[in-house]
Amino acid sequence: MSAETATGTPAIRLASLRKEFEGSPPVVAVDDVDLDVRAGEFFSMLGPSGSGKTTVLRMIAGFEEPTGGRIELAGQDVTRRQPYDRDVNTVFQDYALFPHMSVAENVEYGLLVKKVSRAERRVRVAEALEQVRLADHGSRRPSQLSGGQRQRVALARALVNRPTVLLLDEPLGALDLKLREQMQVELKGIQRDVGITFLFVTHDQEEALTLSDRIAVFNAGRIEQVGTAHEVYESPASAFVAGFVGTSN
Ligand code: ADP
Repeated sequence: MSAETATGTPAIRLASLRKEFEGSPPVVAVDDVDLDVRAGEFFSMLGPSGSGKTTVLRMIAGFEEPTGGRIELAGQDVTRRQPYDRDVNTVFQDYALFPHMSVAENVEYGLLVKKVSRAERRVRVAEALEQVRLADHGSRRPSQLSGGQRQRVALARALVNRPTVLLLDEPLGALDLKLREQMQVELKGIQRDVGITFLFVTHDQEEALTLSDRIAVFNAGRIEQVGTAHEVYESPASAFVAGFVGTSN
């Protein structure tokens, strides 16, 4: 069942999600987080470094096992499922394209682990390149592309599986300011066109406010506030949110 057909069912539901890392002392990275992300939303997890955003993302992807709580995707409990068995895909900041492969081959690589026929692979690669507006660039090498175009190839590689949810871990973090602003506009446009749920991690309040339908503000493993950019900016729920989002209220 896709997120679209399950009207009203959140694309992502986190219930008392918890992660403690062993050590002395142990670290409570994620402290009983509850969160609903709606289907088709551009949703950002915003907060300072070390506040638990990436750990939440990694648990949703299945790379990290929760110590407590539950993760649902489109109404299905996936808490104990393997990463390949979840309808999500991830774009990391340090995406790596293969320099000896064409753009199309790099995108197709996202499908090779799954059993998809060659004809179907070709259709899906063309579709993903179209979605990131690189339909004419499939035969180029990554070295023949601009930084922003390479970033879009990485995005296409994640979209090629047609995931219901795309997880983005500071994907623009390594870019210079000008390219970053350009990519923000493109990301927003692509998300609108493709219509899937984006869960975006950033420590940059401006980026979150610009891009997101809604934002969760993280502090020390907990969510301080969930709301639209307007709500978080104009009516911060705590002194922490006011300080972090940069209002003088
Ligand atoms: P953020 O993404 O907001 O920067 P993280 O989720 O990366 O925060 O980290 C949250 C907390 O968990 C931090 O205190 C971090 O040091 C700790 N942490 C993250 N990963 C590990 C790990 N593999 N082992 C031990 N501690 C970790």
